[in-house]
Amino acid sequence: MWGVRAVPADQALVRRLNTMMVFEEVRRAGPIARAEIAGRTGLNRSTVSSIVNALLEEGLLVETQREAPTIGRPGILVDLNPHGGCIVGIEIGVDFLSAVLSDFAGGILWRRRDPSDPQVHQNIVIQRAEELVDQALAVGREHGLRPLGIGLGVPGLVNFRQGRLLFAPNLRWRDVPFRLLWTQRFGLPMIVENEANAGALGEYYYGAARGVENFIFLSAGVGLGGGIIIHGELFRGSGGYAGEIGHMRIQPEGDLCGCGRRGCWETLVGPRAIIRRVRALLEDARPSLIRELVQDNLDALTMETIVEAARRGDEVALEALRHVGYWLGVGMANLVNAFNTELFVLGGALNLAGDFLCPVIESVVREEALAPALEVFAIKRSAHGTDACVMGLVALVINHTVEQLAGL
Ligand SMILES: [Zn+2]
Repeated sequence: MWGVRAVPADQALVRRLNTMMVFEEVRRAGPIARAEIAGRTGLNRSTVSSIVNALLEEGLLVETQREAPTIGRPGILVDLNPHGGCIVGIEIGVDFLSAVLSDFAGGILWRRRDPSDPQVHQNIVIQRAEELVDQALAVGREHGLRPLGIGLGVPGLVNFRQGRLLFAPNLRWRDVPFRLLWTQRFGLPMIVENEANAGALGEYYYGAARGVENFIFLSAGVGLGGGIIIHGELFRGSGGYAGEIGHMRIQPEGDLCGCGRRGCWETLVGPRAIIRRVRALLEDARPSLIRELVQDNLDALTMETIVEAARRGDEVALEALRHVGYWLGVGMANLVNAFNTELFVLGGALNLAGDFLCPVIESVVREEALAPALEVFAIKRSAHGTDACVMGLVALVINHTVEQLAGL
């Protein structure tokens, strides 16, 4: 009995892994010939052909002609089929909702971003998010594309397997079974992921970290999240909650954090910390053009205003950004020592201030991290900015689609 059961299970697993390898190669290097896929993956040609044929049959890949076929090089190439289906990526942020509809090749067909108030009741925010999904799916129907699934990003701890949000500190939401709710509502496959994890995958598949196997994505919205990629895979940890680097305690006697403890990294380096720092400097009666930019209403202070002032050489803005850059560098040096990270990608609001933060961070990390860990080390700004998370969600749904197909 054991033998009979074990063999097909192993075969299914091998088939699934091989399918993902082939698909990954097409996504990375397409349009590409079957023989080239075989060469790059080490799989034999008949395996590659059978997988490619299955993906062609499902309409997920498409054949194209090499522009100038040469002797010995087959003229037929395969690539992702944009018409293979559409995917909804939606992020519920602390103070915004953001959604995209993507085709199967990651091309954006529709996007929308709305502000949202963290004080508003959770049911109303979820209802607005559902309305955005409805709108996205309607656009998909207009394009004649079959919907493949929905990816949802949330600012908190997630049980990935169950598709459940466990705790979102800055929203004060606990235990929302999104997959259960939304598969009933929409009848589609559904993935729920932490927003920073999804952002890391967005940069890995479509952005600033393509081809980088070890990196950390820092996502700064109201809070600060991290997505850790190790050997090309998202590192989830034993329970799936890894990456909460914003809650590393850097100053145990410091400011109160959304998680209820004091002195977490995000209280020192998140956009809120930058805004608080600028306010403090302005209340000290320091001259600054920021007052003019917000027309003396300090409640209207945003990261955009501060970056704008910094660009015009405003000393208060520059000082606040240097201060935050220093603390970012301290935390990142710790992470470099722990993970030997070769790249940090700055996402969310930090991305906006990247020009001012990166040089400070770089010099602090070079001073604070252990020298051997620094041999390869770089900081980049996110290629997708505020879309990194939704792009990662699109990639997750695409992976899920291909994996399901391989398991049949
Ligand atoms: Zn915290």
